[in-house]
Amino acid sequence: MKYVLVTGGVVSGLGKGVTASSIGVVLKACGFRVTTIKIDPYLNTDAGTMSPFEHGEVFVLDDGGEVDLDLGNYERFLDIKLTRDNNITTGKIYQVVPHITDEIQDWIERVAMNPVDGKEGPPDVCVIELGGTIGDKIFSPHNDSGILDAGDIESMPFIEALGQFSYRVGPGNFCLVHVSLVPVLNVVGEQKTKPTQHSVRGLRGLGLAPDILACRSTEPLEDHVKAKLSQFCHVPMSNIVNLHDVTNIWHIPLLLRDQKAHEAILKVLELQYSGKVPREPKLAEWTKRATKFDNLKTPVKIAMVGKYTGLSDSYLSVIKALSHASVFMERKLVVEWVPSCDLEDSAAKETPESHIKAWKLLKAADGILVPGGFGDRGVQGKILAAKYARENDVPYLGICLGMQIAVIEFARSVMKLRGANSTEFDPATTSPCVIFMPEGSKTHMGATMRLGSRRTYFHISGCKSAKLYGNAHYVDERHRHRYEVNPEMVPDFERAGLSFVGKDESGSRMEIIELPSHKFFIGAQFHPEYKSRPGKPSPLFLGLVAAASGQLESLLRSCNVANPNSTKACTNGVVSSKPRLYSNGHLKKPLNSLVNGYYANGNGIPI
Ligand code: GLN
Repeated sequence: MKYVLVTGGVVSGLGKGVTASSIGVVLKACGFRVTTIKIDPYLNTDAGTMSPFEHGEVFVLDDGGEVDLDLGNYERFLDIKLTRDNNITTGKIYQVVPHITDEIQDWIERVAMNPVDGKEGPPDVCVIELGGTIGDKIFSPHNDSGILDAGDIESMPFIEALGQFSYRVGPGNFCLVHVSLVPVLNVVGEQKTKPTQHSVRGLRGLGLAPDILACRSTEPLEDHVKAKLSQFCHVPMSNIVNLHDVTNIWHIPLLLRDQKAHEAILKVLELQYSGKVPREPKLAEWTKRATKFDNLKTPVKIAMVGKYTGLSDSYLSVIKALSHASVFMERKLVVEWVPSCDLEDSAAKETPESHIKAWKLLKAADGILVPGGFGDRGVQGKILAAKYARENDVPYLGICLGMQIAVIEFARSVMKLRGANSTEFDPATTSPCVIFMPEGSKTHMGATMRLGSRRTYFHISGCKSAKLYGNAHYVDERHRHRYEVNPEMVPDFERAGLSFVGKDESGSRMEIIELPSHKFFIGAQFHPEYKSRPGKPSPLFLGLVAAASGQLESLLRSCNVANPNSTKACTNGVVSSKPRLYSNGHLKKPLNSLVNGYYANGNGIPI
């Protein structure tokens, strides 16, 4: 087993996760089997109890593990399935034994051996990402004082353990990649190497010597800057890779390959003569996708109706899934963030400008998505969005809470059950159409959540979602919820025209709803976004984007539709229809700034 450790210095938010994932992609493209471990030195046992609006989304794994969003990056980039043990936290380690540094090393060795790609036997390489920054900190969004913050202190046992670990596995089995920043001083435009020098010195002081430097910068590094870094950080020029800003993250593995990062890593790991290494990593699909993304012109506007948040990472997997679907359907994704509170009637009086703006954005969208969520803030606004979509034949996808919202709206508007609600928001509601349904034992009422991969069986074979899933009989998707559609009310709903097309094996849990009379109105109790992959978009997202861009019929006609449960890779050429502009008359509005390859609306939220 070989290990690549990825650390980060200088500032947080450098793209360490994407760098680690991309290293994995390049090694995989060289023919190696790759697994990953993310170390989060915080004291919580997992991400389940952390606010997605402060820490980014909670990513859910097949085994129900609630983990850091970086594991989502690994699963998407490497097309693997990880387990909760692939995310190490201080809390998890302390639960186990007091000999923390030994346990960290044993844990890494144990988990690294587990296959994650569906094949038998251990992987060849394990990429370990250590969260947080180590070395010398200049500033971070959370701490601009330059002194140690809590995160740094929490990291110490891991740094010590990883230092010991590199010695334990010995040279030739361990490669340390340090991601650092080379900033530019605007006045003179000079690329500054000092932060990286400091960071590397700090790292060495902690007993870890970098083999490879991955330097983040806005523009490509100048040769003399590389030479300086090499001289002062004691890293050979050939081991300095430059990850300058690119138009989309799928270019990162290509950048690594172009700079022969794989050769440098394989040399450190003594793998270059293993016989497995092709002359060039096979990255044709990545190249095609990255280029295709850059050349997309026709926009598709999706309104994301959620809690207002300054942190777009809270819906990271949803945005990625939309992006995968859009690239597949040859559309440029434009996400319009619509704060659900602003849609509510009360906002018309309290914040009239925001109210007008929110409705304008919603009405200009080609499709509406209500993602998952907890708590009752903004629920009424989401209900109004679902109502608007239903009444105006606008494509709608409701995920988890978004499905429950659609059910409540249908009960209120169509079935005239004015007081209909979820008991999550109104425990005393007269029409409880969404109710608390604890998983398993009745003695465990407390904080029981239905988590991880569960099976959904299709009950209506000709429905849109079954077709989108390639006419599958069942699908396995990931869950994270406590509330569900009240099974007692299902016959009433069905009589009124709402179709429950997907149910669990018992037939009592409603998993997918559809309005057959509508262009595209689907809700899922599960979170399909977690299993979307570049090149293998999630079927329900694909359906939304196809419907929003006038391509649903041709998509449904084509038999070879992406199915995350099938091993059949989806080729991007299956949709035969010519790209067609689905215009709602608002497309001439200028698009706002491009951030990380996506367009965002102008309400201050970069994506
Ligand atoms: N709050 C809802 C529930 O617990 C929805 C959860 C979600 O959207 N993930 O069922």
